[in-house]
Amino acid sequence: MGRESTMDLIDFIARSPSAFHAVEQVRQALEGAGYRPLLESEAWDIEPGDRCYVKRNGSSLIAFRVPRTDWRGFLLSASHSDSPTFQIKENGELEGPEGYLRLNTERYGGMLCAPWLDRPLSAAGRVLVRTATGVESRLADIDQDLLLIPSVAIHMNREVNNGFRYDPKTDLVPLMGTAGDRGRLRSLAAEAAGAREEDVLGMDLFLYLRQRGTIWGAGKEFVSAPRLDDLQCAFGCLKGFLAAEPGESLPVYCLFDNEEVGSGTRQGADSDFLQRTLERLCAALGVEDPMAAANSFLVSADNAHAVHPNHPEYADPTHRPHLNGGVVIKHSASQRYTTDAVSQAVFTELCRRAQVPVQHFANRSDLPGGSTLGNIALAHVSLYSVDIGLAQLAMHSPYETAGADDTDHLIRAMTAYYSASFSVEGDGRCRF
Ligand code: ZN
Repeated sequence: MGRESTMDLIDFIARSPSAFHAVEQVRQALEGAGYRPLLESEAWDIEPGDRCYVKRNGSSLIAFRVPRTDWRGFLLSASHSDSPTFQIKENGELEGPEGYLRLNTERYGGMLCAPWLDRPLSAAGRVLVRTATGVESRLADIDQDLLLIPSVAIHMNREVNNGFRYDPKTDLVPLMGTAGDRGRLRSLAAEAAGAREEDVLGMDLFLYLRQRGTIWGAGKEFVSAPRLDDLQCAFGCLKGFLAAEPGESLPVYCLFDNEEVGSGTRQGADSDFLQRTLERLCAALGVEDPMAAANSFLVSADNAHAVHPNHPEYADPTHRPHLNGGVVIKHSASQRYTTDAVSQAVFTELCRRAQVPVQHFANRSDLPGGSTLGNIALAHVSLYSVDIGLAQLAMHSPYETAGADDTDHLIRAMTAYYSASFSVEGDGRCRF
C-alpha cells in the first residue's frame, strides 16, 4: 500500500521538472476530479457544491471545494512547488577559448552543490511567446540529457576530499556542447514550447536532474528522487484533499512557489494570494470571512530532517525522526514553525483516529535550522496552524531520500484532516 503511493509520487515528480510543471500536474489532477479554473482577473461566481482552482504566475495554485451544506470555516494545507536549482541567465550561453559551450546560471535557493556534479541534467520552465494580440506563457521541458557539470579530476586537485568551497561562477558551470553551437539553447527551448524561435520573448528556465526516482533497500524501503522537498508533501496533501469525505468545513489546497528564496514574490506565501482568494470566496458565497477564519485550521506541510545514519550528532537528543516513522510535527520556540500545543493536539488526535504514526522534530538547541511557509502565510491570514513534514535525508540535494511508507502516512493523515468538520468553541477548545 505504502509502496504504491510512492510509485505514483515518483511519476508525479518525473512529470514535474519545474515549479510550473508541478502546478500543471496538480491542475490536471484537479480537472480530472471536476474542478474548474477561476481567473483572478475576472469576477467569481461560486455556488455551494462548486469545485474550483485559481493559479497565479503558473507556479502557485489554490484549489477549494464548497460544501453543499452549511460550513463553518476552512481546512487548509500549504506546501511548496519549487526546489533548489540553477536558473539559466538571460544571456545564457558562454563560449570559451577552450572550445566549449557552457551555460551561465545563478543559484536558486540554498542547495548542496556536490551532488549536482557529474550527472545528466536538462532544463525546464516556461517560455513567453508572442501571439497575435500580446504574449502567452507556455511550459517548456527540453527533456533530454543536455548538460553536465564536470568535476575536476582527483589528479589535478589532491586536496579536494579534504573540504572544498564551490564557487558558482567557476565550479558549478554546466557544459552543454562545443563552441560554434551557440544559439542551441534558445532553439531547443522554442521547440520544447512549440513556438517559433523568433516569437520567443522571455524564458524562465531551470536545471533539473534527469535521474528518475527509485524505491530501494531491504525490509522497510526508502525512496530516492529529485525534489522530494517539497513535492512529496504537495502530492500527499493533494491526494488527501481529493480523497476526503464531505464535512462541515471548506477544504482548501495551496501550493506556493518561491519558498526556497524567501516566499516574497507575487505568487509566494508572503503575497496576498491566499488572503485575497479566501476573501473573494467568502464574498461570492455571502459569508463573513472573520468568522470563517476563526473556525479554520492550516497544515503547513514541508519535509523535515530525519536523524542521519552517519551523523546522528546533528539531531536533537529527544527529537529524532526516522524514515518510515510517520508524519513529523515540527516545533520551534522562536516560531519558525507554527505548531503550538493546541494545533499539535488537534493534528495528533486526527492522526490517531486515522492510525497514522506521528513523530516530532525540533532543532538541536544550538542550530538555527530552516524555516518554511506556515508562519509566512499566517502573517497575512491568522489561523490555527501546525507545521508538519515527512522525514528525509540530504535535504536540498538534487536527489533526496525519504521513507517509501511515509507518502501513504501523509495521504491518510490528510484524508482524515480534510474530512474533519473543524470548529472552535472557545479559546483552545476545538471540535472536529
Ligand atoms: Zn521545503
